[in-house]
Amino acid sequence: MRSAASEKKDINLLDLNRPQLEQFLRDWGEKPFRAVQLVQWIHRHGADDFAAMTSLGKALRHRLAAFTHVMPPQVVGDQRTSDGTRKWLLRVDGNNCIETVFIPEPERGTLCVSSQVGCALGCTFCATGMQGFNRNLRVAEIIGQLWLARRLLESEGAGDAVTNVVLMGMGEPLLNFENVVSAMQLMLDDHAYGLSKRRITLSTAGVVPAIDRLREQCHVNLAVSLHAPNDDLRDTLVPLNKKYPIRELLAACRRYVDGAPRRRVTFEYVMLEGVNDSVAHARALARLLAKVPAKVNLIPFNSFPLGRYRRSSPEAIDRFRDVLLQAGFMTVTRRPRGDDIAAACGQLAGQVQGRKRRQARQEQLAMGYT
Ligand code: SAH
Ligand code: SF4
Repeated sequence: MRSAASEKKDINLLDLNRPQLEQFLRDWGEKPFRAVQLVQWIHRHGADDFAAMTSLGKALRHRLAAFTHVMPPQVVGDQRTSDGTRKWLLRVDGNNCIETVFIPEPERGTLCVSSQVGCALGCTFCATGMQGFNRNLRVAEIIGQLWLARRLLESEGAGDAVTNVVLMGMGEPLLNFENVVSAMQLMLDDHAYGLSKRRITLSTAGVVPAIDRLREQCHVNLAVSLHAPNDDLRDTLVPLNKKYPIRELLAACRRYVDGAPRRRVTFEYVMLEGVNDSVAHARALARLLAKVPAKVNLIPFNSFPLGRYRRSSPEAIDRFRDVLLQAGFMTVTRRPRGDDIAAACGQLAGQVQGRKRRQARQEQLAMGYT
């Protein structure tokens, strides 16, 4: 049998947000301000060596070193493009790797974070969806992506390069709700990363009940992957639509921004040639979104091996955008970044030991969202 002490050694402090660290240290008889100091060392300063955490006092440092550790995922791949986009391949266990992408721009630096190993939702245009689902990421594996990116960038002289975080990597963040919210609380915590709610965006395929929970628990920016202006078409692109059709999804979006005057929901729309990119589709989309405070992001489709779609032509994308602009919607076309290293939207594949997709989807959908 394992002793209590060796059980405790398994505690990865990256798994705990500040209230949880407070509780943990309270159980050791420590004052709450110690949790503030520890959060600052780990997250603000990126420290993982307790010996360096000098303000904590020797006895506490020794105890932490004996029973806990700070353990992010392991970096096993690091690629970059000429436009500066970075993609890290991170090993999260013996069988699985996830991907994290950093996109530097003149005014900001955005880290695109994964929330699951694979994805059970099986959108037909998405590389992650095509490979099936393995498991949810732990808090340490989610916040560990930001922790690692900051450390790696800092070692290259770009310490504060990450100004924004988007949960748009591998996986459906709202189907890993508790861990994603806990990690976002650390991102928002002034003693940890101190990002404002407007600098964090969570993207979802439309898990309606979880959108309402998110509003109550962690009201960050919401992006919704719409991709079609009617249910028949959306059913074929985003199978989750059969469970939560467009009308229910848009009602949840309205509730999300209700009472928050300057807030808008970002609707993502992947441009697929001959599928969803006609002027008629654009007009239908404008009618659909008429009563939602909305911005629209058009995403040129990024191809991947075995993908069955093609990217819309630049002319078709411009025509589509112009219809939306004329209807008064703030509309931007996302410039594909890093697609030569397969780091663009929908290309993240990592290394997922997939389980049978149908079984995984049933498990995911049974998680209180039925
Ligand atoms: N599961 C969440 C977040 C991850 S996907 C979601 O679906 O919103 C992030 C974004 O990339 C989504 O808008 C998704 O629809 C889009 N995407 C997926 N595959 C794509 C592809 N091949 N080309 C362009 N965008 C894609
Ligand atoms: Fe999952 Fe999002 Fe890909 Fe759909 S687009 S399969 S929800 S990661």
